[in-house]
Amino acid sequence: MNNAHRVNILIADDTPENLRLLSGLLTDQGYEVRPAPNGRLALSGARTILPDLILLDIRMPDLDGYEVCKALKADERTRDIPVIFISVLNEAEDKVKAFSVGGVDFITKPFQEEEVLARVRTHLRIRELQRDMEQEIKERRESEESLRTERERFFSTLEKIPAFVYLQAPDHTIRYANMKFRNLFGDPEGRLCYEVIRGRDKPCEVCPTFEVFKTEETQIWEWKRDNDETYMIHDSHLADTDGSPLVLKMGVDITVSRQTGEMLRERTEDLERSNRDLEQFAHVVSHDLQEPLRMVSSYVQLLERRYKGKLDADADDFIAFAVDGAVRMHALITDLLAFSRVGTRGKPFEPLEAEHILEQVLANLSVSIRESGAEVTHDALPSVIADASQLARVFQNLISNAIKFRGEEPPRIHVTAEKKGREWIFSLRDKGIGIAPKYSDRIFVIFQRLHTRDEYPGTGMGLAICKRIVERHRGRIWVESREGAGSTFHFTIAIPERI
Ligand code: ADP
Repeated sequence: MNNAHRVNILIADDTPENLRLLSGLLTDQGYEVRPAPNGRLALSGARTILPDLILLDIRMPDLDGYEVCKALKADERTRDIPVIFISVLNEAEDKVKAFSVGGVDFITKPFQEEEVLARVRTHLRIRELQRDMEQEIKERRESEESLRTERERFFSTLEKIPAFVYLQAPDHTIRYANMKFRNLFGDPEGRLCYEVIRGRDKPCEVCPTFEVFKTEETQIWEWKRDNDETYMIHDSHLADTDGSPLVLKMGVDITVSRQTGEMLRERTEDLERSNRDLEQFAHVVSHDLQEPLRMVSSYVQLLERRYKGKLDADADDFIAFAVDGAVRMHALITDLLAFSRVGTRGKPFEPLEAEHILEQVLANLSVSIRESGAEVTHDALPSVIADASQLARVFQNLISNAIKFRGEEPPRIHVTAEKKGREWIFSLRDKGIGIAPKYSDRIFVIFQRLHTRDEYPGTGMGLAICKRIVERHRGRIWVESREGAGSTFHFTIAIPERI
């Protein structure tokens, strides 16, 4: 019996002498005793204090012991309290009745003290065992219940996951399969997994044996169905249900992602090939054209020097056009060559200070900055991992454009950088003539210009080169602008993971 709880015994007897005697006897043994001089008080006392045991006289006025016992057994709260009858009645039928109303024992008066104590101890002990057993049963029921809930939750989760899942026994029979499995392969109940999944008559060579699963490591393998293009990945775990070894297996149909991956790989290869071809073409064309162009240039310049003013006025104009054409062609070819070299002649990326690069560029552009009265300002700029001369080229093209496409006022250019996720966003804002939004993509395409050469000189290659450089740095370039409202060019430089 629990130590914290003193054993509580209720004694009901209408003979004060008996009551005193029994009370004294049990109190001396350390029990807590509650005497009741009649049946009614015994019943109400029992209901209030819920004693561990009751000693109940039978013959009492008003409510006798049998009636008290019946009432106690009818009440859920008092039903399990052991009742020992103690009475002068000694007939067999009195005793039978005592047991039939729910008593656990019967002591005949006059009683021996030792006998009373022995019986009291026995029934308290039985009651204690009973309680322990009830507690154990309750706990087991609760744990069974929570196991059942867990199991239900587990299986209902398996129904929802977007993979086919099944439990397989060592003899390859399927013991459970989720909905996804049934939809894919039909009803597998009690059938063999290699038969259901792969339509075979013997286990698949890729299927690990149960010995392998005992390592408790996840086994992943990939296979292709015999008659179609379905690839699946299996993932298996050892599951121990009811002591019998079962393997929980799951798989997903990766056909689509494989096909997409394959397609993507092919496309990337095509793209890389056509990029290489384009680069090669641009390189060959620009390189090979340079030589005859140099010849044309030098001879028309020779013509100009030797015959200017010596032929008629038309001839002077024609020679001037030819010289101009040759100069322009030289510029175009040089830019095309530069464009083709972004990929082929790029330097390895290295850590560098964007601010230093910008300062070098401003020094290169000092003449046109001075002549145009431009003011170039910047915020603090970060360290980046990039190709120094290519980054300089991007800054240089964007700043010289901002100077070239200025408005009425002297150019005002401001450079900023902002970190967003794993990249730096550089922005160059000018207050120039701006660009209509419908041209904001076109201007990055080679040779695309929005103005005639008379309005603004140029080849239309500057932004195309910037785009190619930025893309080599895994970045993007774009413009935000409106006609007459200035432009802001943004480009990003990826921040490598190790920084
Ligand atoms: P180019 O400067 O040789 O014309 P780009 O490729 O550098 O070639 O630019 C393409 C076109 O984009 C320019 O012709 C111009 O119309 C427009 N553009 C570029 N930068 C600016 C700018 N800062 N402001 C307004 N328009 C611009």
